Amino acid sequence: MCFGKEDKSSFLPFAIARVSEEAQAQNSNYSYKIKIRIKMKEKNNLTILSIETSCDDTCAAVLKIKDKKIKIISNVVSSQVKLHAKYGGVYPFLAKREHQKNLPLVFKRAMKSPNLKVNLIAVTTGPGLEPCLWTGVNFAKELAKKMDLPIVSINHIEAHILANFIGKNFQRAKNFLPAICLVVSGGHTQLILMKDFNNYKIIGETRDDAAGECFDKTARILGLGYPGGPAIAKQAQQCSSKIKNLKFKISFPRPMIRQKNYDFSFSGLKTAVLYDFKKRSLRIRKSKQYICEMAVEIQRAIIDVLIYKTLKAAKSHKIKSIILCGGVAANKELREQLKKRIIKETPSIKYLAPDIKYATDNAAMIGMERNQS
Ligand code: ADP
Ligand code: MG
Repeated sequence: MCFGKEDKSSFLPFAIARVSEEAQAQNSNYSYKIKIRIKMKEKNNLTILSIETSCDDTCAAVLKIKDKKIKIISNVVSSQVKLHAKYGGVYPFLAKREHQKNLPLVFKRAMKSPNLKVNLIAVTTGPGLEPCLWTGVNFAKELAKKMDLPIVSINHIEAHILANFIGKNFQRAKNFLPAICLVVSGGHTQLILMKDFNNYKIIGETRDDAAGECFDKTARILGLGYPGGPAIAKQAQQCSSKIKNLKFKISFPRPMIRQKNYDFSFSGLKTAVLYDFKKRSLRIRKSKQYICEMAVEIQRAIIDVLIYKTLKAAKSHKIKSIILCGGVAANKELREQLKKRIIKETPSIKYLAPDIKYATDNAAMIGMERNQS
């Protein structure tokens, strides 16, 4: 798990502690500290180089912060999707090797002009795949040493939340708080009560698979490739636009929807998909109509539960907004349906969804965290 459950959990020390613990577990002689040497007066005029390698995207970005206004100078993402597609998921050691190969190139592209004067390096230290995280952390440490720069440790989930504020004036960002954040990525599904920047409380989370993982695993069953989310979404959209009559009448459970807590569970849905698939003939399994109808119902089942629990949390907390984030936030149906339901059921609550390009992993969001503390 990535966040503390305490009301006033702070991410930064947690993330640093996490890396230290992992490093020590790996090598008992290893002592590791990230120093934050940024002076208060520099905080309002910063150029940040950020690095993200928590999973299968090698990312670097440069952000300029002046008088609380943020400008993205560059945001480079080198995706390893094609490489991992044949395994139907991310193969950590292959991802690590690719990060090692790609980081110098991605860094060079992000540092567009050689005259760019960076003041601070921000790097993701967790949660994520450990071999991948270490590649980014070690690269950032080497750079920090060479460039004599301070380095800060960034929590990936918090960065996903803050991706919603890219391009917005931070002076006004507080108007959105407190908020309920629906974090939906490949590794996490959480409902977080965000009282302030640096004040988060997890109020619910998945007990097994994450929503993105469910998209990925069910897409794999259907032979739609990796990543599964966009593939399922595409099939579902084709179904709605082209196929008039639903032939197979597929219906999957909405796991835990009626339970009183804010937790989720998606592994049963994956199993239900597998059982339905197995009971069909080979001909049907390969038919376009069946795949489309499966995609529609999988997407609906996931979205129904996410929206139901988010609105339930929103109604029982005094909040000003609902914030959607993480890779699954790129899903058009989820974005639109959540928006419609908020307008209908909780019209006084504002709604934030990230720009699609900042929904999935990127380094621009990693540079955002530092700005709040
Ligand atoms: P990570 O889980 O490593 O933090 P991301 O935050 O980038 O990575 O999320 C990746 C997840 O988002 C994957 O499971 C992917 O299938 C899912 N995803 C991406 N785009 C969509 C989409 N349009 N619809 C549903 N899921 C999506
Ligand atoms: Mg992510």
